Amino acid sequence: MYTIPKGTKDVLCEDAYKWHYVEKTAKETAAKFGFREIRTPVFEHTELFLRGVGETTDIVTKEMYTFLDKGNRSITLKPEGTAGVARAFVGGVQQNGTLPYKMYYITPVFRYERPQAGRLREHHQFGVELYGSESPLADVEVISLAKSLFDELGLKDLTLNINSIGCSACRANYNAALKKYLGERLGEMCKECQSRFEKNPLRILDCKEEKCKEITANAPKVIDFLCDDCKSHFEGLKAGLDAVGIEYKVNPQIVRGLDYYTKTVFEFVSNAIGAQGTVCGGGRYDKLVEEVGGKPTPAVGFGMGLERLLIVLESQSLIDGVEKETVDYYLASIGENALEFNLRLAAKLRAKGKSVEFDLMNKSVKAQMKYANKIEAKSVIVVGDDEISSRKVRIKNMQTGEETETDIDSI
Ligand code: ATP
Ligand code: MG
Repeated sequence: MYTIPKGTKDVLCEDAYKWHYVEKTAKETAAKFGFREIRTPVFEHTELFLRGVGETTDIVTKEMYTFLDKGNRSITLKPEGTAGVARAFVGGVQQNGTLPYKMYYITPVFRYERPQAGRLREHHQFGVELYGSESPLADVEVISLAKSLFDELGLKDLTLNINSIGCSACRANYNAALKKYLGERLGEMCKECQSRFEKNPLRILDCKEEKCKEITANAPKVIDFLCDDCKSHFEGLKAGLDAVGIEYKVNPQIVRGLDYYTKTVFEFVSNAIGAQGTVCGGGRYDKLVEEVGGKPTPAVGFGMGLERLLIVLESQSLIDGVEKETVDYYLASIGENALEFNLRLAAKLRAKGKSVEFDLMNKSVKAQMKYANKIEAKSVIVVGDDEISSRKVRIKNMQTGEETETDIDSI
């Protein structure tokens, strides 16, 4: 027997309905905001992620699935959804597209991480991307979309944390102050942070090592270094969220794990599932499109972890009421004639849009009924020689137990 690769999961047929429910709700919510689906490859040239995600991020330094293909090209399985979308936008949309361009995706994501509850090596994200608008109202739209989805699913106990990490101008002032603070404590920090210090000091704020976290807890906050433009953008975001009645906390600690963020960053955190509580992370990335070779295009979006979302939904018993995927009719057969009859009846019912199963295992009638119960068929029709000659059958509603007699030809 083969074992499944570490950090990956199968979704078995019994559970697929939960995924379909979440995916369908996500797609419908995206449509309400005028976002359309975009699909990009599962793998890209490694270079795209080095540029897009950033060479000093955890994702690029530790987590990517990178390999040489048979043509000796360096290929990487997507470790996040945004860089591929930006590449597709630049190559396929930017020339003739009208802005804003609003996209969503549902995609597998691959990261070589230490697997634990809510942390996998292959996980799935629902993500949205809004390209072309600088307005803080675009940020509000994206956050509202996530919030609407959570509301539609019935989620409780979610906190929205927001912050602004400014533009490159504010970042220059901030980096100087941060380096001054960290410089005096560099010896106490982990090796990686020591190397981040010169290349990308902001990244140190995202370090997961305890000793580094202790040090950064009292570091200067980027929000205190915003230029006038970034400040008023952040004010616009807060005013917009207030206007639509979305509650938030300003949390100056969040910087997010990808280098492409500018101005707004945000997270929805669930208090229901402990350490891996961040269900959705996003923000603005006004430089990314340029970074991957396009014309300057402001952008904002988020990525939502679907496994984590499902963990929260299950912990709040919000999946219990979701309808399972079952057949409309199970046709039980008594004898050879009935089986052949049911074969034809199934075809007829399917042509009318019904879902139908009948016995393929030569089971006894009792075993067929047991099976119909097990698969939770909505109705069962038992067909034997009597039913065929009288052309009358009884349809049993499996939920209520009620039976109704009907003409075979009028089913
Ligand atoms: P974390 O801080 O938990 O590692 P992150 O900052 O790396 O999260 P993002 O890159 O913003 O996360 O990804 C968006 C969302 O995808 C996260 O909020 C989370 O819900 C989900 N996610 C990220 N990594 C994993 C993983 N390894 N397994 C399952 N879900 C994940
Ligand atoms: Mg991570």
